[in-house]
Amino acid sequence: MYAIDLEGKNALVFGVANQRSIGWHIAQALDGAGARVALSYLNERIRPGVERLAARLSTAPALIECDVSDDDSLERAFEETASTLGGLDVIVHSIAFANREDLGGAFIDTPREGFRLALDISAYSLVSVAKRAAPLMRNGGSIVTMTFQASSRVFPGYNVMGTAKAALENEVRQLAWDLGRDGIRINAVSAGPVDTLSSRVISGYRDMKRAHAERSPMGRNITHEEVANTALFLCSDMSSGITGEIVHVDTGYHVMGI
Ligand code: NAD
Repeated sequence: MYAIDLEGKNALVFGVANQRSIGWHIAQALDGAGARVALSYLNERIRPGVERLAARLSTAPALIECDVSDDDSLERAFEETASTLGGLDVIVHSIAFANREDLGGAFIDTPREGFRLALDISAYSLVSVAKRAAPLMRNGGSIVTMTFQASSRVFPGYNVMGTAKAALENEVRQLAWDLGRDGIRINAVSAGPVDTLSSRVISGYRDMKRAHAERSPMGRNITHEEVANTALFLCSDMSSGITGEIVHVDTGYHVMGI
């Protein structure tokens, strides 16, 4: 039997804001595979929308508020996770943030505070989440984060978020080493452009999308479901030998030289 079966597994998904969120699509895939899913959301403002989404899952999920820029909020979130779920098998980290004005214009103009904010929320948060999740992953586990190819190539407008993704991908490799002997794997999905609240803020997003559709080997853009299915694979034992990896779900755009 080769189907992905996450029956009996507990998953905590960070980064659900609305129905377009990649985190939401991954949550649905995990739910469909039988995992017990908890959803983490940023703040009270977002909660009503997340509650409506949560009602679509097969079992009522725990809803856990967490602002990853605040250590107290992180502590509370993981205390709540431990008391509601007990242990954890899967973490999905689908979080990024930068000031809108730093996602356009020239990268050279990025101010110190905008740089600090983007790197803190979009990159450091993976370290702080992994550190708190690992003790709850008593039988090993899988952590999946979301990245973009601007980590290593220039996408004008993506600016400081490219720097954050470079840091994030480096963290994936270092955390793979830190956690590997405990049976905890960590990988990133490098997704091509998909329409979400965050992506639409990036000046140049439309150009990125057009370039992927025109120039990728498959000649089209990716779907939310393709990203979610790959994340599901990485969360499951089907990927038991993979850690520290960046898996591209971009219809092959990253292999092109023109
Ligand atoms: P999204 O806006 O739906 O998700 C971003 C999430 O980050 C939101 O849920 C938001 O509430 C959360 N967040 C922001 N600041 C936070 C904080 N301080 N604490 C906790 N949560 C916080 O957009 P998305 O496109 O689904 O983004 C999810 C991930 O996917 C991001 O890492 C993004 O960079 C990555 N990604 C997106 C694309 C794309 O084209 N949409 C492509 C590649 C990678």
